[in-house]
Amino acid sequence: MTTYSKAVLRESPVRVKTIVGVAFVVFVFLMPFSIYNFFLERYILGVGSLSVVLLMAINAWNCWYGRYYPLMILFGLAPISVVFLGFTIYQQGLIGLLWCYPAVICFYFMLPERYAWGANIILLVMALPMSWQFLDIALAARATATLLCVSAFAIIFVRVINAQQHELHELAMTDSLTGLANGVQLHDSLEQAVQQHDRRQVPMSLIALDLDNFKFINDTLGHDAGDEVLRGVGNLLQKRIRRSDKVFRLGGEEFLILLYDTDAAQSRLVAEELRKTIESMPLLPDRRVTTSLGVATLQPKEHWRDWMKRSDDNLYLAKKQGRNRVVG
Ligand code: GH3
Ligand code: MG
Ligand code: MG
Repeated sequence: MTTYSKAVLRESPVRVKTIVGVAFVVFVFLMPFSIYNFFLERYILGVGSLSVVLLMAINAWNCWYGRYYPLMILFGLAPISVVFLGFTIYQQGLIGLLWCYPAVICFYFMLPERYAWGANIILLVMALPMSWQFLDIALAARATATLLCVSAFAIIFVRVINAQQHELHELAMTDSLTGLANGVQLHDSLEQAVQQHDRRQVPMSLIALDLDNFKFINDTLGHDAGDEVLRGVGNLLQKRIRRSDKVFRLGGEEFLILLYDTDAAQSRLVAEELRKTIESMPLLPDRRVTTSLGVATLQPKEHWRDWMKRSDDNLYLAKKQGRNRVVG
């Protein structure tokens, strides 16, 4: 999971492309004004705008090579931009104030939402009193209204994008039939479990679960009845495991349960309890649904692939020994 507590982050390719794009746009549109200011011997404005262009370029360069420094943007680029904007408003009034609008949008493109809020508020705290000081009342009122409007729209825009991103992420990670996790995050979860086990010697176990003769259920009662059974089993698994555990539907009628802090004996008990509960559930009107389960407890220095394979092998043995049983 992405966390912004670290100063250096590996950002998503979308953020990297956005930051590089924003730096390019700033270069194209701000650089001519920077040169123009030098030409008119307005050196402070020239140096200020050039600094913003350069800092944006350095930031884009860093991001491109996998180093994203949101704190550097928040405490470096953003204040420098705000000071520069303040000076521009002081020197040029409304003309200077106009640059605040792209700056607000830039903050939201370049920073995580909360940081962008901070930079935006700092900019408003600087720009609005200045506009009242240096512009006439009619212009200052309009500048205040429009700048607040742009800030609000930027926040709404970012909120919508983030919510959509979250929704898409959930969709990509979730099995639509059962609502369980699908296999997409399986490798990450198993990898994390292995790391926890290695670091803190926490016992970890896997249960591979497969419905018995499920094809027969589909063939005789129809695919919809089969789906209903899968939903019922999915619900049960979700309810029976602890919050720290995870259930995945790996496709078809195969599930994998990751049990945190659970040793071999405990995981066998869990598997046996699940087997009995599913067998006793009235999932179909005229017959019992049974399952075969393979249990494997993580061994020292074991790779997650081998661990998962052992649970699969035990499941295969359970099928071979006559189904409706736990092996492991
Ligand atoms: P075994 O006891 O050896 O596991 O036999 P089985 O019949 O359960 O296993 P098999 O792999 O032969 O059949 C699995 C069936 O699951 C075949 C496929 O049509 C069905 N299936 C896969 N995905 C879905 C699904 O999403 N919904 C339904 N209803 N059936 C599915
Ligand atoms: Mg099966
Ligand atoms: Mg199967």
